[in-house]
This record gives sequence, structure tokens and C-alpha cells, in this order.
Amino acid sequence: MKTNESDQADIYIDLLDAGVSRLARRALAVALRWPRSLPSFARIALAQAGAARRRAQNRAGGIPVPAFLIVSVTRRCNLRCAGCYSLATEKRERAEGRPGEMDGARLARVIGEASALGVSFALIAGGEPFVRSRELINLAKANPSLAFPVFTNGTLIDADAVKGLRRARNLIPILSVEGRQSYTDGRRGGGVYAQARARMAALRRAGVFFGVSFTVMKSNAEELVDRDFIAELHASGAGLFFYNEYTPVEGGTESMCVSAEERASLLASLEDLRRDFPALFLAFPGDEDKYGGCLSSSRGFAHIAPDGRLEACPFAPFGDTSARDLPLAEALKSPLLGAIRAHHGELQETSGGCALWNRRDWAENLLVGAESSGETPLGDPSAPPVYPESPEFLKKGFDENLNSLVSNFNA
Ligand code: SF4
Repeated sequence: MKTNESDQADIYIDLLDAGVSRLARRALAVALRWPRSLPSFARIALAQAGAARRRAQNRAGGIPVPAFLIVSVTRRCNLRCAGCYSLATEKRERAEGRPGEMDGARLARVIGEASALGVSFALIAGGEPFVRSRELINLAKANPSLAFPVFTNGTLIDADAVKGLRRARNLIPILSVEGRQSYTDGRRGGGVYAQARARMAALRRAGVFFGVSFTVMKSNAEELVDRDFIAELHASGAGLFFYNEYTPVEGGTESMCVSAEERASLLASLEDLRRDFPALFLAFPGDEDKYGGCLSSSRGFAHIAPDGRLEACPFAPFGDTSARDLPLAEALKSPLLGAIRAHHGELQETSGGCALWNRRDWAENLLVGAESSGETPLGDPSAPPVYPESPEFLKKGFDENLNSLVSNFNA
């Protein structure tokens, strides 16, 4: 029986599907400056209607397929940034005897299934994804209708990777910096900013479309929308700017977050920049409000951890199923993620990063509730989850896990 909540969900999902198509079309317009990327972007844009249709069909069949799937392919990295979650997570997962990152065959299966189910964007994260650059290039070539934005520190994009990116134009490197040199090197280490800028220059010479991602904090928010800085990066070849709000994973860092007013000012500045620069300007969580708030838990996106576990969001890293040994379609029937969607009203955007993070106490209880009842708003999944951890175990690791994943996304 349809409930008000699901009618509302349908409205937002239609809005989101329209937003995804618009994004793909805008990317096509922006790609005019990168003529060699045009055929690939056109193919992605043309694939959106079919992808949205498959998502709708699968949803009707009880499989909540998100438009965006964030896939963390590794925890390995060549840098040692301050406050990096991924390093902490890697140590903890080893201590818990968790399986390591999925091998190439499993990753290829999960990505192939995601594309077939109707996922439009596979956002690749890490650790540093370019430690697996050849696999990424093959994944993108094998799934030409899927867009692969890949969040990278950029320092491992060598000549071989650039050659590969020229052959796989749907793999879009998004280089992470924190602002100008002092901000970036302050967190990432001396010389990293210069390396990132040198990689941008190499990508531009090769005619490869790329973007830049920023961690937006109270301290650097102004610099990140400074017109001269954006003009400089745009002139160096950046065609996409991704603004990811800092989420206060470490207690006592709440003051680093932008306030609701600062977020509104950021979004207004992005509107101005969109008008004046032929580039894409995206914000996370940014304007989720217009899609009814938090888009996690397959409402708009979901997260696959390096070991295959399906999680609500990179910033809310808990889950009760895994795509490592289960078909993705089965993993997506997660009781926990279903319960979060069913109680979506609890997740109204607040100031500072991730709504689910801000409601982690509620989410923890939900976890216990979902785990013991086994019920899901989308019916009863037959396949048991791959990682049937006890709630106590998951609860113990919750904060630790969240800490690491949030800074991951800022990586
Ligand atoms: S923040 Fe990103 S680039 Fe830095 S050490 Fe962590 S994963 Fe590597």
C-alpha cells in the first residue's frame, strides 16, 4: 500500500532523475572546450533516460537503485594527510580481520551490475584510487555509458595514467586541493599543491577533461569562491568544481563547519560562478534540500566500501549487507538502508555536513532495531547479509568508522 512518505519519495526521485539528466546535459555543454571528450559525454547524456527507467523498474521490483554509487576502491595511499580517515580505517579493518579491498574481478562485477541496474554515476574514492589506475581505466572502458568521477590527490597521475585517461574519457579525474598552496600543503604536506597543479597542466596539455574538489570549512570558504582563484584553476583547464562541506567527525571540530548562513552564501556564490564560468559547480550536501534533504541510503546515492560492504553514505559508514559475495541487486535490499529511507523525515539538513552524521544516535538505534526485526520497508530480503556482524560489534565501530570515512570524502 502506498504511504504518504513513499508518494513524497516518488516526487523527489522524479526531481532527482531530472536533476541527473540536467547534470549530464550541462556536462556535455561544458565539454565543448574538450572536443575529444564530447562523444563520451554525449553517450553518457543519452544513456540517462534509459538508466532512470531501469531504476524505476527496479524500485518497483523492490530493488532501490541509486542514481549515484560512491565506490571506495582502496584504502591505500601515497600521502599521509592530517586527519586522514582512510589510514585509520585501514589499520582498524586489518585488526578486525576484515577482508581487504575487492579484487579486480569483483570490482568489475559490482560496477557492471550497477550500470545494468540503472546507476548513472559511479563516483570513485579511496584512499588514493590511482594506486589502481589501470583497473580504473579498464572499468571505465568496459562501462562507457557510466560516468566515473574519480576523487584523487592527483600526485599519482603519471604519463601512463594520462594515456589511459585519453582512452577512457568517461573516467574524470577530480583533483583534491584545500585552497591555494598554504591551505593545501598545510593539510596534505609540503609540495603537494605544486604537484597537483603540475598534474592539472599535464591533463590540460593532453586535452583530458578534469575537475577540482574542495573541502569547504569556515576558514577557507571565502577563498574557495574567490573569482581570481577560480579563474586561475579554470584557465589551467578545470571544467568542474566540487564543493564538499566539512563534516565534524572529530569531536570539538564543529566550529570548523560552515553555518547555515555560510552554506546559503556558498550556494549563492556558486550560482554566480555558474553564470560566469563555462564549468560545472557542484556542492555536497549543498542543495539536497530541494530533493527533500539527505539523499543517502540509496535515495539518491549509496556507498560501497573497499571490502564491498554497502553503506548508507561515505559519511555514515554503516551497513548490513555487502556486494562482495552477493549480487549488488541483493545487497541493495539492505534492511538498514531501507529503514533509514522509511524514516527519512528524521534527516532534515542542519548546519554542518552530513544530516545522518548529525543524527548518528538515532541511526545507531535504527541499526539495532533493523538488525533484530529483520524487517524492511521494501519487503523481506531472502539472502542473509554477507557480514552478519552483531549490532554490538557494529555499534562499537560506528564512531571510529564515521571519523575515517568523512575525512575520506574530504580527501
Ligand atoms: S586524505 Fe586522501 S590523499 Fe590524504 S592520505 Fe588520506 S586518502 Fe590519501
